[in-house]
Amino acid sequence: MPETNTAAAAQTLLKTLTGIEAAPTWSAPGRVNLIGEHTDYNDGFVLPFAIQHRTHAAVATRNDGLIRVASTFDERPVEVALTQLNELFRHRREEIAEWARYPLGVAWTLLKAAGVDASTVTGVDLAFSSNVPVGAGLSSSAAIEGATASALAETWGINLDRVALAQVGRAAENDAVGAPTGIMDQMATMLGRTDAAIFLDCRTLDAAVVDLGFAGAGLELLVIDTGVKHSHATGGYGERRTSCERGAAVMGVAALRDLTVSDLPRAKTLMDDITFRRVRHVVTENQRVLDTVRALREVGPDAIGELLVASHVSMRDDFEISVPELDRAVDAALAAGAIGARMTGGGFGGAAIALVARADVETISSAVTDAFAEAGFAAPTTFTVSPSAGANKNP
Ligand code: ADP
Ligand code: MG
Repeated sequence: MPETNTAAAAQTLLKTLTGIEAAPTWSAPGRVNLIGEHTDYNDGFVLPFAIQHRTHAAVATRNDGLIRVASTFDERPVEVALTQLNELFRHRREEIAEWARYPLGVAWTLLKAAGVDASTVTGVDLAFSSNVPVGAGLSSSAAIEGATASALAETWGINLDRVALAQVGRAAENDAVGAPTGIMDQMATMLGRTDAAIFLDCRTLDAAVVDLGFAGAGLELLVIDTGVKHSHATGGYGERRTSCERGAAVMGVAALRDLTVSDLPRAKTLMDDITFRRVRHVVTENQRVLDTVRALREVGPDAIGELLVASHVSMRDDFEISVPELDRAVDAALAAGAIGARMTGGGFGGAAIALVARADVETISSAVTDAFAEAGFAAPTTFTVSPSAGANKNP
């Protein structure tokens, strides 16, 4: 769906709620993580890029101190008093429909971060429309958070920079939704640039733009959405975080970021096998991010294939967050000639990515689809993504 139609769909939904035509819209992109998985909450390195799929928010103010949110995904609007947000999220968050915790959570954490009293800002209606696939590892959650944070900051005259708005989104996801995710997704959605990735140090939040050069090299980044749904609020994500914290504690460091590959032999003698393999994934993955950035800067995108594959193997065997569909997607893409491939996102489902020559997009897509059919898996959805700009107000 072209971006303009998604913006128009948000405006149409807002019109059905308020009667207001052609309201202003803000949008924020989903993201693909090129490499650096489960390194963010270990204070490590990641290399995501924002994609062309976006979530749009159409906005109108209201004078009764209420905030109302509606989405084309679930048209039943959810409405609460702004002054109730704090009490609601602290004590009664299960009363709020799950999807609405994302935008309402952002309203709550934005006011907190800015030190603004909820009774002093205008009420607001927000209508969302999105073409970011949900639960595919492309961070539809950061997209709705980024669109909401940008829209509300401007509407309420709150002057926070992009990094601060990313932190607002993360706080909403952690404290309002209850998903213990890191800062990567929100930074990618706020800082994205056309044709570039964001090399992020998750400890310092230093971010550098790294040119990808896919177009110049005749390459495309193919996303293979397995259709297997994951959930961050449940499942193995929290467990992996706990293992990482345990590993860091055993090694006497603040975070796994503080270890390098040369610390691994000692780590192996100090912890159980599962914790060690979780640690080894994070430590080697951090190194792979650094190696990928160097390869992109010094050689070009053709040089990163083996790093992508090594990342997948590490997630499959050491971190154990892959699923058969993701392994199949990676193996089939590589067998059909992809330069590199790996699962992307938090794991337990979602999407794989493959770096492929433009001329091979069709062949590799159908090879993967055939491999899924052979294995008796539901057909995957495949599409290419291009590195795109971060959150903004639509013209
Ligand atoms: P991912 O971020 O990988 O897509 P998450 O589980 O982190 O998956 O976030 C997906 C959730 O975010 C959805 O289940 C829904 O609650 C919420 N969400 C995302 N986009 C929208 C939208 N446009 N409208 C309503 N809710 C949305
Ligand atoms: Mg998410």
